[in-house]
Amino acid sequence: EHLANQIAAGEVVERPASVVKELVENAVDAGATSIDITIEEGGLSLIRVQDNGGGIEPEDMETAFQRHATSKLLSDRDLFRIASLGFRGEALPSIAAVARVECVSASGDSRLGRRIRMEGGQLTADEHAGCSQGTDMTVRDLFFNTPARLKYMKSIQTELGHISDYIYRIALAHPGIAFSLTHNGGSLLRTSGTGDRLQVIAAVYGTGTAKAMLPLRGEHADYELNGYISKPELTRASRSALTTVVNGRYIRSFAVQSSLLAAYHTLLPINRFPVAVLEIGMHPGLVDVNVHPSKMEVRFSKEAELKAFVEETARAALGGRRH
Ligand code: ADP
Ligand code: MG
Repeated sequence: EHLANQIAAGEVVERPASVVKELVENAVDAGATSIDITIEEGGLSLIRVQDNGGGIEPEDMETAFQRHATSKLLSDRDLFRIASLGFRGEALPSIAAVARVECVSASGDSRLGRRIRMEGGQLTADEHAGCSQGTDMTVRDLFFNTPARLKYMKSIQTELGHISDYIYRIALAHPGIAFSLTHNGGSLLRTSGTGDRLQVIAAVYGTGTAKAMLPLRGEHADYELNGYISKPELTRASRSALTTVVNGRYIRSFAVQSSLLAAYHTLLPINRFPVAVLEIGMHPGLVDVNVHPSKMEVRFSKEAELKAFVEETARAALGGRRH
């Protein structure tokens, strides 16, 4: 069991940003409207994620740290229509296998919560805790017991870059959630949670960029697209400011990106890129997210149709505009 967790940890927990991603996804799944992320030393010394979501019942807390314990799947068939971000039940045990974890959580309005500590997969503390509804997860000394992996960590700036990149994207994906991110005491992001995506774009890319956005909107028998693309007047030298969100999940999709860029590049040179956020909604049965443990890559069952739809919607948004 411990070995299985360490093996799974290798797949799920590649670096500090993977821990941040898993903890934040759990907070989103728990219905949080506010998620605060505190990082120290690029996440290698401390990662803390506090949410005001539904919390974990005291009697479910140990189970949550067991392998394949997920409260999110009801049957095998659910794997084909996954709506929540998490579903594999691998994250918490994997993280607890390679770090010192403290989890404080309370559910409902009883205010009677529980605090547990795990070190290298072993339960080291367990007590009642009075706290407000929600979950507070602290992960210290990541990879303290797997020196080989620790050796592969890059500089603090590099690890922090992966973390902030992920937080920017999940904040763009969820404008209705108030996110804050701090590193070594300094604030890197704060969003309002009012649901206004342009405000999040302003928080991430600056107000100048937010003012230069065109709305992207399209409907199709199977898909719905909502988002923004920057006006051709505002271009960037890299494609890193393209964010794709499918059913609330930030994903990487070459298919979606290349379709958007096909429309964009009919107007602009191929070495220039827009800032864009695309949120695509579809029936969960049309997208397979169970391709990789990171759940970042997905497979679309009607990829050609989706590509044509994205390209057409982007063309309409940029419609007739010339540089
Ligand atoms: P998964 O997200 O795939 O279900 P995890 O290992 O990430 O698996 O989490 C295990 C379980 O712990 C979740 O299914 C959920 O019930 C509970 N859990 C974890 N984090 C939170 C949280 N922040 N708020 C509420 N419940 C949580
Ligand atoms: Mg999870």
